[in-house]
Amino acid sequence: MVVVGGSIPLVPINKGTMHCEVKLKTFYDVIKTQDKSRLKSAVAVRVADKEFDLSRECHDENFEIIDADTPQGVEIIRHSAAHLLAMAVKQLFPKAQVTIGPVIDDGFYYDFSWSDGFSPQDIDKIEQVMRRLVKKRLPLQRFVLPQEEAVQFFRDDNEHYKAEIIEDIPKEEELSLYKQGDFTDLCRGPHVPHTGFLGAFKLTKVAGAYWRGDAQNEMLQRIYGTAWATQEALDKYLHLQEEAKKRDHRRLGKQMDWFHLQDEAPGMIFWHPRGWIAYNQLEQFIRKVYVKTGYQEIKTPQIIDRTLWEKSGHWDKYAENMFTVECEKRTYAIKPMSCPGHVQVFNQGLKSYKELPVRYAEFGCCHRNEASGTLHGVMRVRGFVQDDGHIFCALDQIGQEVSAFIKQTYTIYNLLGFDEVILRLSTRPEKRVGSDEVWDKSESALEAILENSEYDYEVLPGEGAFYGPKIEFSLKDCLGRIWQCGTIQVDFSMPERLDANFVNAAGEKERPVMLHRAILGTFERFMGIMIENTAGHMPFWLCPQQIAVLPIGGAHEAFCQEITQQLKALGFRATCDARSEKVNYKIREHTLARTSIMLIVGDQEVSSGTVNVRDSKMVQHGQMTMEALTTWLKAKPDPNQELENIF
Ligand SMILES: [Zn+2]
Ligand SMILES: [Zn+2]
Repeated sequence: MVVVGGSIPLVPINKGTMHCEVKLKTFYDVIKTQDKSRLKSAVAVRVADKEFDLSRECHDENFEIIDADTPQGVEIIRHSAAHLLAMAVKQLFPKAQVTIGPVIDDGFYYDFSWSDGFSPQDIDKIEQVMRRLVKKRLPLQRFVLPQEEAVQFFRDDNEHYKAEIIEDIPKEEELSLYKQGDFTDLCRGPHVPHTGFLGAFKLTKVAGAYWRGDAQNEMLQRIYGTAWATQEALDKYLHLQEEAKKRDHRRLGKQMDWFHLQDEAPGMIFWHPRGWIAYNQLEQFIRKVYVKTGYQEIKTPQIIDRTLWEKSGHWDKYAENMFTVECEKRTYAIKPMSCPGHVQVFNQGLKSYKELPVRYAEFGCCHRNEASGTLHGVMRVRGFVQDDGHIFCALDQIGQEVSAFIKQTYTIYNLLGFDEVILRLSTRPEKRVGSDEVWDKSESALEAILENSEYDYEVLPGEGAFYGPKIEFSLKDCLGRIWQCGTIQVDFSMPERLDANFVNAAGEKERPVMLHRAILGTFERFMGIMIENTAGHMPFWLCPQQIAVLPIGGAHEAFCQEITQQLKALGFRATCDARSEKVNYKIREHTLARTSIMLIVGDQEVSSGTVNVRDSKMVQHGQMTMEALTTWLKAKPDPNQELENIF
């Protein structure tokens, strides 16, 4: 998950316009002389592409100020906050040893060797000490030591982990250390000028972590925190975290009885009846999209001999992500993607240029050996189904195919409730197949399409697939979180490797270009995103339990059974909940399970032939006749119908 904040451009200071007096020795002095007000938010400076402390000596160079509220500034704040955390821990627990404390997404952590562990009360105390140290506005002072002296420095201080880290650094290097008050830490820097910049922080959790990530080593105590430029930014972040927690698909998935995961099948989902209804609704919708946009659905084998993966390049470049099985002295890979299989289908019978583009789609069930530590509910899994598709086309058809796909993808996201889409172009990674010439060709093809499209896009250098560059589609959810979903990738390599051909207009054999594409990405993850985006209040068409009819007493049951049958006959997913529990209890249960509509029936409703309507968001819609109810329900948005009018 990536949370993207607004990026604020750095304001350059042109040193050429300054009076360069001899006494102006540091960046701090220069800024103070030129524009003192900037010192309030300046946390560091950048010269060319290197960042420095304000206290560093300034030579005859231009520099930019890094303000606290820029992404780079926030990173420096988090970095400095990690040191502040370590300082506070050492004050409270002098025998604890410091190890490492990096910046991570949204914050920082620090690992301590402390066998007693930290209780929630300890964390409170540490926070209090940190706040006191913030008030003291302690300067962070940089000094350097040769490697050997630095090792000795930390050994004398009984910081054996730190000494061990430094021992691994080449001897000839000079190391920078930072001192704040009586606490010194090894660090490359830069840091904020003083601890007064670190007021907007919060410690968030404690977890165990092995020294150097190795389970054979000592278990360390990892304290996590977050830090921001302002209290306002911190409050906003904490509020979003709270909201995200409430919407966590793992919690809601259990509450709605949709799915579960268990230890025997890490990263693979057990879908329950309700969740599977929703899943199937989405699959049927995508199947309609396939048909409407000119795809033919196919199905290819789950396990395929390694020789095919060797030819496709997966065995060489992707082996660590593949599960394998042995059978009759042959090695097979469980498919991590469907592409090589699709080429096999294309290769059956030589195609004419008149048949291109050929578009195959598959609900491709794939497995990838993702590291167990990265697995996360249904969002990051090992077993998943892609809404996968491959377009085989001629070189001059790439433009129209990619443009059409971009349009389709925007439309589908819209129909599924997402209005904000971010486009990114990912270019050649280090580990790749294919010549640079082929990469040049495919990258410029995509770039040209994006340049000529109505959409904005970013470039992510080095993030492409190993066989080609790609355009990625990310959604912004209601909490502002970004989720990467769809993709289209240009591939000149695989048709070559797997010997795909078509007959061109001149009657000669020619290589087709292969486009890999997916709109949702994977069904599992997309379901997770939809659950979190709606807090489980799924759109009516997708909701597994659309209607629950709730009799208040036994006398109302017959009427309820009758209208349930009527609703079912109209194609709605309706149940009559005639359990003997109190009606308020049942309403509560159905609200938690996110039953879309509840129809409550008592004496008044039976005698007037009506129902009392409320929904999963606890909105009361009042009494309705069955006729009014069905008209209302039928008018609810259904992307399956909207699709008819679009493509
Ligand atoms: Zn640092
Ligand atoms: Zn593919």
